[in-house]
Amino acid sequence: MTVKTDVVIIGAGPVGLFAVFECGMLRLKAHVIDTLADAGGQCTALYPEKPIYDIPAHPAISGADLIDNLMQQAAPFAPTFHFGEQVMQLTRTEADTWRVVTSKGTELEAPVVMIAAGCGAFGPNRPPLDGLETYEATGGVQYFVQRREAFRGKKVVIAGGGDSAVDWAISLAEVAARVQVVHRRPKFRAAPESAARLDQLAKDGAIELVIPYQLAGLEGTNGVLSGVIVETLDGQRRTLEADHLLPFFGLAMTLGPIADWGLNLERNQIAVTQATAATSAPGIFAIGDIATYPGKLKLILSGFAEAASAAHAAHAIVHPGEVVHFEYSTTKGVPGGA
Ligand SMILES: Cc1cc2nc3c(=O)[nH]c(=O)nc-3n(C[C@H](O)[C@H](O)[C@H](O)COP(=O)(O)OP(=O)(O)OC[C@H]3O[C@@H](n4cnc5c(N)ncnc54)[C@H](O)[C@@H]3O)c2cc1C
Repeated sequence: MTVKTDVVIIGAGPVGLFAVFECGMLRLKAHVIDTLADAGGQCTALYPEKPIYDIPAHPAISGADLIDNLMQQAAPFAPTFHFGEQVMQLTRTEADTWRVVTSKGTELEAPVVMIAAGCGAFGPNRPPLDGLETYEATGGVQYFVQRREAFRGKKVVIAGGGDSAVDWAISLAEVAARVQVVHRRPKFRAAPESAARLDQLAKDGAIELVIPYQLAGLEGTNGVLSGVIVETLDGQRRTLEADHLLPFFGLAMTLGPIADWGLNLERNQIAVTQATAATSAPGIFAIGDIATYPGKLKLILSGFAEAASAAHAAHAIVHPGEVVHFEYSTTKGVPGGA
């Protein structure tokens, strides 16, 4: 079933979220799609705890708090979020609207699409193992821990040497039946206190460090994972009994299908008219890091201004002939506001 809306926003990073607010102030309903499991784009995926110092009127605010505030600011406009879905297709309909189709088959139709896709869709770096997709589909292999409790009493193999691998090993050691950490070298690239805690848990026998090994294969039947094969650089192999493999090899960003939508691309960014954020295609706008024009600054505050310009230009497409009288938010208020 195709759901119709005014604006489809691709990307729930800071700029996509602020676009919900700007569209809402002009009575434009929005659906927002993101490949990640949560809102926030780079702010929450890459630096949730780092303070940002150049958000106007916030002398310092963490990436995570900025996103919480943007979610609150968008909430009165009741956007529909589609998390964990990548926009794969963007095609023009006979009615001169756009049809958006996601990796999970969600179909949306709207006269306006705002691409707020940053540097592209985030996805985990996946180990090149035979049969990986089968075990991903059954949950045998997972890249994010959504519920720690799901691992209670399970045999868990964690692969990687960074903060995520170390932090989850420490955390899951409290609930899992067994935690083994596979890493190529003895040194972990994690915060020193976390690395020290991991060493202590290994000494206490609560975690086994499988070092220096790397992933070599998966074992199981009917999609149910039973073992992870690991090997040393000189080919010595071991099989670790496992209900779950959690590879933490970082996140990659890929422009992905956006490159195939016929938009004017300049070095992986979409060229737009600065005044409106309009792209070369009618009804498609690009805002935030993905957009470029002469003098573009890849900053959150530039993206916020682009979202406001795009929303005003979008209104003329969604409600042609209806005049928008420019009003301050102080005059207009927000739904449910004082
Ligand atoms: C370490 C670090 C520190 C930074 N510090 C600052 C700072 O101090 N000040 C500042 O202004 N900026 C800073 N930045 C840059 C800032 O984070 C970016 O400018 C900002 O995140 C851009 O926001 P955005 O919404 O355009 O894109 P993003 O935050 O990149 O969000 C884009 C979202 O779109 C999603 N997406 C992409 N393609 C698709 C698709 N096809 N389907 C579905 N979803 C898709 C992605 O998964 C992602 O969640 C920093 C960046 C980093 C990495």
